[in-house]
Amino acid sequence: VSDLAAIGIDVGGTNARAALVTRDGEIVERRRRPTPVGDADGLVATLAQLIGEFDPALPVGLGIAALVGPDGMLHYSPNIGVRDLPLAERLRAEVHNPVRMLNDASAAALGEQRAGAGRGIDDVVLLTIGTGVGGGVVADGRLVMGHQGFGAELGHLIVEPDGRRCPCGNRGCLEAYASGTAIGLHAREGLVDHSIASSLRDETELSGREVSAAAAAGDAFAASVLTEVGRWLGIAVASLTNALDPKLVLIGGGAAQATAPWVLPPVRETVARRIIGAGWRTPPTVQLASLGDDAGVIGAGLHAADLSDPVEGR
Ligand SMILES: [Zn+2]
Repeated sequence: VSDLAAIGIDVGGTNARAALVTRDGEIVERRRRPTPVGDADGLVATLAQLIGEFDPALPVGLGIAALVGPDGMLHYSPNIGVRDLPLAERLRAEVHNPVRMLNDASAAALGEQRAGAGRGIDDVVLLTIGTGVGGGVVADGRLVMGHQGFGAELGHLIVEPDGRRCPCGNRGCLEAYASGTAIGLHAREGLVDHSIASSLRDETELSGREVSAAAAAGDAFAASVLTEVGRWLGIAVASLTNALDPKLVLIGGGAAQATAPWVLPPVRETVARRIIGAGWRTPPTVQLASLGDDAGVIGAGLHAADLSDPVEGR
């Protein structure tokens, strides 16, 4: 296949998923390995092995669930359990391919903008709702990651100064209100009121999955929890819109699809009401992302392909 662009690899806390990606963002061939957690040498060895199964001439894009520097330094990843690992440099000692790294959610945003629901649109924001909340920003057709590569951590936008404790250690982050985990916590807190009737009382585990299943079965309390989550997301999207004026805001991640019927309407309503110029301007379109788990692999590959292009590369 002549238009192969790169090898994209999405490194999460559970699996490292690799694929050959074409210039159009199509996936041609896939591989997968469990991610070694808390084992820097094991991580390097696993990724080198994965890369070694593909063409050594193709550039490699690594999208990693981590704070990643543009120099290929993996500064910190609670999910993968490593810090201060010069990952790109270590890989260059093992493989011949050029290696580029970026944060996994930024990779997913680029994938959606180039090959998914954002195709053809230059200004796109992605928010992912899963165990946590992630995000990425494409402005004027380019990823925005800041001078150290730590930008676009949209899950840690602070929506409530003295609010709930976030897994990052701060208080009041969006992630503490709108992640799959937070959806379960909201529900548990609401059920403290014994006058509320809900099938969720019988659940031992409570997360976005159980709450959206109950809402789909007609549970009014579960639906109200998700509506509340949509309002919190809407507050964050209104601020993002004021900062970036995106044309499109995509909601992706593992909990997005099932929660969308209750979450998306209050997001749209809150954004339309809270953005600057509400009433006379058109708010961004808010809709579901389309690539699912493949967004990160595709975006990581296209990022590496861009940087290897003699015109685009910097
Ligand atoms: Zn946080």
